[in-house]
Amino acid sequence: MSAQLLDGKLISAEIIDEVRSQVDARVALGRRAPALAVVLVGDDPASAVYVSNKKKACERAGFRSLSYEFPASLSETDLLALVEKLNADPSVDGILVQLPLPKHIDAEKVIEAINPLKDVDGFHPYNFGRLALKMPLLRPCTPHGVMVMLEKTGVDLVGKDAVVVGASNIVGRPAALELLLARATVTVCHSKTRDLADKVRAADVVVAGVGIPNFVKGDWIKPGAIVIDVGINRLDNGKLCGDVEFEPARERASWITPVPGGVGPMTIAMLMRNTLDASINLNP
Ligand code: NAP
Repeated sequence: MSAQLLDGKLISAEIIDEVRSQVDARVALGRRAPALAVVLVGDDPASAVYVSNKKKACERAGFRSLSYEFPASLSETDLLALVEKLNADPSVDGILVQLPLPKHIDAEKVIEAINPLKDVDGFHPYNFGRLALKMPLLRPCTPHGVMVMLEKTGVDLVGKDAVVVGASNIVGRPAALELLLARATVTVCHSKTRDLADKVRAADVVVAGVGIPNFVKGDWIKPGAIVIDVGINRLDNGKLCGDVEFEPARERASWITPVPGGVGPMTIAMLMRNTLDASINLNP
């Protein structure tokens, strides 16, 4: 069997088009277009690419995007002051502070300073807590994108065994909460998990977010399982690859996401979705 591909580029384009038509409809009724403020501190090349892609997506979605770019020397106090200013600005609906931040800035403090209603990354403890309590509002973008991809398979997740490999705050942990919300039976694995291969072998759905190229071996995949690879790793030859050994996993899975072109574009689409939702919540 060779798995069907879940095409993140295609699905994300559909979502952004859908957002665009909702924005156009609101603007036609006299509402203003949603506005997203994107804050970049430092010169991390990967962050610069992500920020530039987010700005392009804003254009496609019909949003106003505001860009704040600072050298790595920006102080925590100045960043917090900017967040406060954006919180108070009624023309701004979403605030995204690109991570990672330079070491002298406490990222948790910055995230907690964002008005939860403008927290379009969904990282604020308020939004994370709401997801944990089965009352999601602004959902963390990457795991939400994973759920939209799973929906596209048409497979009912209720009662399925899902294994999440990785337990970080931005990928594994919220992905586990999303899967639980969808009524799957969820096992969350991390660096101290024992018998990882056996756990993956029992999974109907595997979500990998580890950050190690080809970490999940193809022969761990149960025949017919759905494989969602969140990993984005750059190899020495410059190519991108995921956390799952793609070709052998594809031979066993029923559905699989490619890297690149899988979960990556979905994250940006869900950011657009969140920004529109934030704008509607703030200006009904
Ligand atoms: P992270 O913060 O480094 O977390 C990695 C997780 O993997 C941790 O929970 C860690 O366990 C676990 N882990 C590490 N070694 C392991 C092992 N040997 N066995 C089992 N678990 C292990 O990374 P992240 O930020 O979640 O990112 C993970 C990957 O997703 C990266 O490739 C990143 O580039 C990618 N990513 C993609 C998107 C997207 O839009 N597609 C968004 C975000 C991240 P401990 O908790 O025990 O340390």
